[in-house]
Amino acid sequence: MTNVFNFNFDTTYTGLPKQFFVKQRPERVQNPMIVHINYDLAQEIGLNLTSTTQKKLSKLFSGNELPDGSTPLSQAYAGHQFGYFTMLGDGRAHLLGEHITPNGIRLDIQLKGSGKTPYSRSGDGRAALGPMIREYLISEAMYHLGIPTTRSLAIITTGQEVRREALLPGSILTRIASSHIRVGTFEFAANQKDEGLLKSLLDYTIKRHCPEVFDSSNKAVGLIENVMQKQSDLIVHWMRVGFVHGVMNTDNMTLSGETIDYGPCAFMDNYDPNTFFSSIDRGGRYSFMNQPLIAQWNLARLIEALLPLIDNNADNAVKLGEKLIDKFSDIYKQKWLTMMRSKIGLLGDQPEDQILIKDLLDWMHNNDADFTNTFRDLSDGKKPTEIIYETSSFQTWYKQWKSRLQKNSKSWDTSVAMMRNINPIIIPRNHQVERVISAAAHGDFKHFRDFLEVLKEPFKADGKSKPYQIPPEPRERVYQTFCGT
Ligand code: AMP
Ligand code: MG
Repeated sequence: MTNVFNFNFDTTYTGLPKQFFVKQRPERVQNPMIVHINYDLAQEIGLNLTSTTQKKLSKLFSGNELPDGSTPLSQAYAGHQFGYFTMLGDGRAHLLGEHITPNGIRLDIQLKGSGKTPYSRSGDGRAALGPMIREYLISEAMYHLGIPTTRSLAIITTGQEVRREALLPGSILTRIASSHIRVGTFEFAANQKDEGLLKSLLDYTIKRHCPEVFDSSNKAVGLIENVMQKQSDLIVHWMRVGFVHGVMNTDNMTLSGETIDYGPCAFMDNYDPNTFFSSIDRGGRYSFMNQPLIAQWNLARLIEALLPLIDNNADNAVKLGEKLIDKFSDIYKQKWLTMMRSKIGLLGDQPEDQILIKDLLDWMHNNDADFTNTFRDLSDGKKPTEIIYETSSFQTWYKQWKSRLQKNSKSWDTSVAMMRNINPIIIPRNHQVERVISAAAHGDFKHFRDFLEVLKEPFKADGKSKPYQIPPEPRERVYQTFCGT
């Protein structure tokens, strides 16, 4: 296929030792049809998808025809899934290549659901439409909420059915990521018991994600510190908007600090720190409040994998590694506190801040308050008047909050502006997401497109956004989500 799309491929992953990937093209599909294309994203990254036919685009985004310069491959990785180590790899994904944008940014362009690979194990290499719609919707929502994430460029249907709980329409999502290097990629390298492999991955990752680390005296430590900062930032963002990832396995944690692999993820409506949705998450290992702890656990697996490069002496390496991982709690806590202060308009640092935040969260939990709407109501500039706020416990908290706000060094207007910038009005509420997916399963994509439009401006209220601000009725609440692989 000639390069009508303006792809500017420069795929460096193939420069890694051969154990890290398998070169293989996507499996052909019968009748690819475009469901949706992200023309805004295409333009942003310098692709031209407008001067061609839908037919050509469907061939491109199904993998039936490869664009010029593409060297398709699937990546090897391992991972701790729910605490247990497994060899994995792209079982249903093909990297088309690394595209360099006009601004010089390197991005992976990957098809997900594009057929079997040597890493498919017992899987069929395919994806169903519902979960791909979910990934598209939520990854785009996260992007517009200001959260680091992979993005979605296109969805197609394949014209073939996939067997899941029923026969479902097959689909392929085109994913854009700053890279697909995961904690699990390092675990894979460490498992090969070949220090050379590990070193090549370390150097590659530093070059790609934090070139400044090349100058540090200990590159492995430098990378770990860098990832700890990025991952703590990321989890703080999730906690800001009530996002529950749902499968924080080490293979779903990136070195770039982007959110990846939207499976059974969901946003919390009513605040409950123990919220988890995933049908496969028995015991709530990946519940809302556990996310920082799990991030730390996953980073400990990264450190373990890198031990031989941290220090030649195994004991010293372990000691240094433990010191590193212990730092995570403080790093996270400071960032979380700063974020929560902003959510309620507090400037500066006062001794009562932590209690004030805790009391609000406790009140929300005890009163089944909606996470998103509570913070927006507080950002309104006026005292909220809904029935839920009439409780004496809220009134007491409100008075304490107001007196704390007196200690701010800047005006109330400054606080309100800050709160309105950090507290979204619109999140992809689960019952709405489910509605979109079930309409799409019947070939109706209007809800999907309408929702996407609203999700583009999550901090703005207008006529269109109103229906999406309403929490689910008790009967509409979604308690369980499915991985839907
Ligand atoms: P995920 O839950 O999407 O993060 O996937 C976990 C692992 O299972 C990855 O190695 C995937 O490539 C693999 N996988 C998931 N679904 C399939 C499928 N239908 N066919 C083959 N491999 C799959
Ligand atoms: Mg995954």
